[in-house]
Amino acid sequence: MGKWLYKIFICGFILLINSKLYAQYDTGYVAIDIAQMENFNLYPSYDVYLQMMDRFASEHPDICKLVEIGKSVQDRKLLAVKISDNVDDEEFSEPEFFYSSTIHGDELCGFNFMLRLINDLLTNYGSDSYITWLVNNVQIYINPLANPDGLYTTNNNFVTNSTRYNANGADLNRSFPTVANPVFDFYEPEVKAMMDFANAHYFSISANLHSGSEILNYPWDSFYASELPLPDNSWFEQICSKYVAAARKTDPEYMASEIAQNGYVFGSQWYKISGGRQDYMNYFMRCREITIELSNAYCLHPDFLDEYWNKNRTSLINLIGETLHGVTGLVTDLYGNAVKNAEVIVLDKDKNYTTVFTNNDGYYFRYLPPDSIYEFSVYADGYETINQAVATQKDTLVQLDFMLRNGIAYYPLSSHEGIGEEVDFSARCDNGKIVVEASKPISDLVVVASDGRILVNSKPKKYKSEYTLNNCSHGICVIKAECGGKSFTHKLFITK
Ligand SMILES: [Zn+2]
Repeated sequence: MGKWLYKIFICGFILLINSKLYAQYDTGYVAIDIAQMENFNLYPSYDVYLQMMDRFASEHPDICKLVEIGKSVQDRKLLAVKISDNVDDEEFSEPEFFYSSTIHGDELCGFNFMLRLINDLLTNYGSDSYITWLVNNVQIYINPLANPDGLYTTNNNFVTNSTRYNANGADLNRSFPTVANPVFDFYEPEVKAMMDFANAHYFSISANLHSGSEILNYPWDSFYASELPLPDNSWFEQICSKYVAAARKTDPEYMASEIAQNGYVFGSQWYKISGGRQDYMNYFMRCREITIELSNAYCLHPDFLDEYWNKNRTSLINLIGETLHGVTGLVTDLYGNAVKNAEVIVLDKDKNYTTVFTNNDGYYFRYLPPDSIYEFSVYADGYETINQAVATQKDTLVQLDFMLRNGIAYYPLSSHEGIGEEVDFSARCDNGKIVVEASKPISDLVVVASDGRILVNSKPKKYKSEYTLNNCSHGICVIKAECGGKSFTHKLFITK
């Protein structure tokens, strides 16, 4: 009997230990109840994070919408909120801005700051005139946590033993397509989701938040300036210097390191990497992305969250406002129909993939230093190329519209420039859809059925396009494409 009692005692003890372990969480770091996040002075558990994102949208349905970007390796959600007036509509006359944090799972404070920023924008809308103006005029997307598996490595209630990598052991900020290697056979799920998300939008400015240093960095990360000159260098320096200046009003020593006393640096001049998201967004998406390194501590102790948030709050809000300083315009034909995917080129400036394209409603956004005169040219196949001059003004979004007449386009730059002239093109059939992908924007695409009917005649101006074939059954079709100055012909067997 004594033996049995002993066994029961041991079993009970083991159960107690197990339940303790199960309930264990990072005391002092993690909120396991949403009420504990009231002052934003902790990091939320995964479940609390999901609840907070849901609550932002449900409590502010007129200006906030929850967006699922995708899933991580371990099936955690990659979430963003969209904050804008008319939040359910895509308002292409408004620029799209994107913040994303913690692509490195062990770089924590940006995760917390993005939740604070969302809360700040939502609760000050209608009372703070600058925030109201931003929300009314910009489509703001905020993804607080780009690598949830890296953050919640042990379980959903732990953050202090987080890791830089995703659950496959990959550094996501080294896993994006590059100029030299633009198409992969395998993409990390978090990277693929982010690429699809970026492809579905026309982000014009974005920032990726990290920790481990206190500095801003701007493109390129994978080229020295001597290898791939960046025509927008001075614009990047201006927005970085504004960010640092606003932050230093709170802490004059902030972001002053031996790397750069002024607080910002050309990426590769600091250290060169390959496969980073910053270069991907700039080179492939034509977005202007910077990297913000928020704190020297990778895992900033919650006691310091208020202090670091106060240093960055104004700068983070003002950076969104940079989408409303530059040149915008609507490109139409003579009948007022939007011309989408027209290439907007700043003459004597643009090269190395800094031109921008009009969005689905024909609008473009081009950011340039103020108080200068620039000659713009708009190139769209089937229309005469036209030029117009514009004077940029400080803190102003100058309007420059173009009305194109049908005719023959000429490309105003000497060539479709860039490096890595090797062009990859692939076409495949996927559930009755034709999917074409290339390492350069596909300028022309024609799909011809075996009986000679033209099934697709398109100028996608994109790296990837999909077409659903409604009027074609099984059989061979021929795909002809132009991209990067080269022609490709592919035969494809259509299956449905
Ligand atoms: Zn990082």
